[in-house]
Amino acid sequence: MKPVIALVGRPNVGKSTLFNRLTKSRDAIVADYAGLTRDRHYGEGRVSGREFIVIDTGGFEPDCSSGIFQEMAKQTRQAVAEADAVIFVVDLRAGLSGQDHDIAQYLRGANKRVLLAVNKAEGMSESPLVSEFYELGMGEPIPVSSAHGQGIRSLLDMALEGF
Ligand code: GDP
Ligand code: MG
Repeated sequence: MKPVIALVGRPNVGKSTLFNRLTKSRDAIVADYAGLTRDRHYGEGRVSGREFIVIDTGGFEPDCSSGIFQEMAKQTRQAVAEADAVIFVVDLRAGLSGQDHDIAQYLRGANKRVLLAVNKAEGMSESPLVSEFYELGMGEPIPVSSAHGQGIRSLLDMALEGF
């Protein structure tokens, strides 16, 4: 069985960009606005000869406003349930949001390995802003740039460790 990695996070943080980076496919729709990729999306990736499955998600339905369980797309919950590891993507340039905290709370209850990827960190990987994401209680924030391919390798190594 190939390990399964789910990409989770609020809209526009760069999940689909990361999906494309991991799978080197053009299948996921990369939006310049929030919320376009609504469905789960599967792809295959490979690193150091190890193969894995990655699931892109649409994140949250943007038109709902109250409560994690109402907001979180059913597809995202299913993706987390299917996953061996979750990459929780946040946006360094946008900073922490209430939705990030809601997602963190949900993921704590999901009992999965979670990696916290602080995306859009090109040129900012040493910034003290990265440390602000410790507040989510999801462990060490890992600066990455999905668009530029930085930090992706070590992120994957951590996600796949032991599989
Ligand atoms: P999703 O809604 O989480 O799937 O986010 P997308 O992958 O559609 O990306 C949302 C926006 O963020 C797009 O305009 C991307 O080009 C941009 N983006 C994604 N990754 C990066 C990154 O590493 N750096 C920067 N600066 N922008 C990024
Ligand atoms: Mg997307």
